[in-house]
Amino acid sequence: MLNRIDLRGRTTTPAQLRAIVPRAEVDVDAVLHHVRPMVEAIADRGVEAALEYTEKFDGVRPASVRVPASEISSALSSLDPAVREALEEVIARTRRVHADQRRTETTTQVVPGGTVTEKWVPVARVGLYAPGGLAVYPSTVVMNVVPAQIAGVESLVVASPPQAEFGGLPHPTILAAAALLGVDEVWAVGGAQAVALLAHGGVDTDGAELDPVDIVTGPGNIYVTAAKRLLRGLIGIDSEAGPTEIAILADSTADPVHVAADLISQAEHDPLAASVLVTDSVELADAVDTELERQIGATKHTERIRTALGGKQSATVLVSSVDEGVRVVDAYAAEHLEIQTRDAREVAARIRSAGAIFVGAYAPVSLGDYCAGSNHVLPTGGCARHSSGLSVQTFLRGIHVIDYSEEALREVADKVVALANAEDLPAHGQAVTARFSR
Ligand code: NAD
Repeated sequence: MLNRIDLRGRTTTPAQLRAIVPRAEVDVDAVLHHVRPMVEAIADRGVEAALEYTEKFDGVRPASVRVPASEISSALSSLDPAVREALEEVIARTRRVHADQRRTETTTQVVPGGTVTEKWVPVARVGLYAPGGLAVYPSTVVMNVVPAQIAGVESLVVASPPQAEFGGLPHPTILAAAALLGVDEVWAVGGAQAVALLAHGGVDTDGAELDPVDIVTGPGNIYVTAAKRLLRGLIGIDSEAGPTEIAILADSTADPVHVAADLISQAEHDPLAASVLVTDSVELADAVDTELERQIGATKHTERIRTALGGKQSATVLVSSVDEGVRVVDAYAAEHLEIQTRDAREVAARIRSAGAIFVGAYAPVSLGDYCAGSNHVLPTGGCARHSSGLSVQTFLRGIHVIDYSEEALREVADKVVALANAEDLPAHGQAVTARFSR
């Protein structure tokens, strides 16, 4: 079922591994020419332009972009009690984990009379994008809103595509999740037009102001990513989230039923989703292939899953040992990495690059997608080599506060002058000596 890549007996560098282990090709540059005029039109004409694109791409024109408060509360009243209970549990667990990410102000006394304090200040206003194309993700609302709230962000807006079947409102579970989190500002707008409208703000159909935001976070499709790329600078962004990925490092102790189920669970997101098994056991690889065939037939989104698993971005990589497997998954830097080996904790401790690591037989990625307490907005496309998932830190700015007395400055003045002269910026040195020359 999965393509096989046999690395046994081959010597590879990390750079070669990156080229050998497959990835989905998502060419964001190729859609920039399509998205740029959208972003420009929204910068010029705001809501009117956003609604034109909404009509074109979502097939519906909401009466206003801002969702009326009554619709948000009625979505919560009509929410299935079992889903409400589950969302409340997700919110509680996610809050518990993210509360521990709060940063505390630190003051360093560099010399007597000279201190540097690092204070952490939340951004003022945040736009959180909750996708609503192929699937709707109320869990993503939680994963975006909770860290922003814990960071102390005072103004939050959620944007999500309007759905024709719900009269131009975002999906009711998105609205209900916002209500459960205490977010009362939700905009019915999706795709690139959502990111552009969040960045530029506008005036709604009823004349109400939609204030621009400072940061846009949240995953989305290629058009959302392209708009984030074009608007980065005007706004901050979390990352350019691409199609979801799972890598599983497994040995002969892994259960092929679990491994296959987990590979399928991520393939379910998107035809471009990547499911990669890295194993030193040919028997396991064969058993997983058999299981994939059996389980795909019994699941709902068969076509999407078959496309994702059959795509070049999904594969089984055969390695000669778990140690070699660690090198492979480190080079791949998956968004989600499961370790299903002997001594899984010890193996997990050696991993340097992954968006999130799931340890052992009872920590499937689906747990992290919803109820582990961890964040599910994670770096994709190899970005886990240099970036982290969404966290409280995403919404904070560290500001250094420099406080030096006259004596402390005098003590270091000649060194500032020496460096200023060495950099041919003498006025820098003069700004210090001017204080002591009278
Ligand atoms: P989406 O909300 O990102 O995109 C839907 C929007 O795309 C629509 O509102 C529409 O206006 C716009 N659109 C559709 N066709 C267009 C076109 N031709 N030109 C311009 N705009 C167009 O929803 P989606 O499409 O389902 O994508 C969601 C993505 O987010 C998936 O790839 C999923 O895997 C990913 N995701 C990632 C994470 C993560 O943590 N990395 C979490 C959840 C979802």
